[in-house]
Amino acid sequence: MRKKIVAGNWKMNKTLQEGLKFSNDLKEALKGKTVNCEVVVGTPFIHLSEVAKNFEGTVVHVAAQNIANKEKGAYTGEVSAAMVASTGANHVILGHSERRAYYHETAELLTEKVELALANDLTPIFCVGEVLEEREAGKHFDVVAAQIKDALFELSKEDFSKLIVAYEPVWAIGTGKTATADQAQEIHAFIRKTIADKYGEEVADNTSILYGGSCNAGNAKELFSNPDVDGGLIGGASLEADSFLPIIEAFN
Ligand code: PEP
Repeated sequence: MRKKIVAGNWKMNKTLQEGLKFSNDLKEALKGKTVNCEVVVGTPFIHLSEVAKNFEGTVVHVAAQNIANKEKGAYTGEVSAAMVASTGANHVILGHSERRAYYHETAELLTEKVELALANDLTPIFCVGEVLEEREAGKHFDVVAAQIKDALFELSKEDFSKLIVAYEPVWAIGTGKTATADQAQEIHAFIRKTIADKYGEEVADNTSILYGGSCNAGNAKELFSNPDVDGGLIGGASLEADSFLPIIEAFN
C-alpha cells in the first residue's frame, strides 16, 4: 500500500537558528499525537545536519531541495547526493518548477540527479506541473506526461518504485490559487495511468503522488480525500509548525 506523505519545502527561507526553532516547535507539537502519514521537512543545505539530528527518533524525515548532477570534484558551490546523505537527510526534492524556471533544469540534467539520489539512498520527490498558459490551452496532460517520461522513463522498474512524484501546477504555487479537488484528482489519476502504462499497475499503485500549490490547513483535507492524492508538498504553509501541523493532521 502506498504511503501518505506530507512534505514541507522551506525554499530559501530561515536562518539556521530559525530552522532549529521550527524543528523544536514541530517536535513539541507532534508529541503524543497520532500521525497517520510520513512527514518530511525540506530545508536548505546548511540546515540539514542539525535539523536531521533534532528529528532523530521522531516520525519526521528531512529532505534537501536540490543536489548536484555530478558525483564529486571541481564544481565550486555544488552539493553532492553523497554529502546530503551524510547529513542524515534521506529525501531530496528534484525538478521543482522554480529550479526548472530559474536554473534551467532540463529533463537530461534531472535524470542525472535522480540517478545520483538513488545511488546514495536518497528518495527523490520528483516535481512536475504545467504553467497557466499550458493549463488554459488544455495541454497540461501532455506537459506532465512529457516531464515524467523524459526524465524518468529510462529508470529500471526497481528504481522507479523508489520515487515519490509531486504534481505542482505552477499557477498554484505561492499564488493562493489552489487546484480544485476535482482538478487534482483528474491529473493525479492521469499520472498514475502514465506510470502504469510503462511500469505496470503494481508500481503505479505503490507510487505516492503528492499535490502541491497553495495547499494549507483549509483545503488539505478535501484535496487529500481524493483516491489518487496521497498527500502534499507544502511551501508557504510549511514555514511554521502552527500552519504545517493541521496539514499533517488532515490525515487523522
Ligand atoms: C512549492 O513550492 O512546492 C509549493 C507548493 O509552494 P506553496 O505551498 O507556497 O504554493
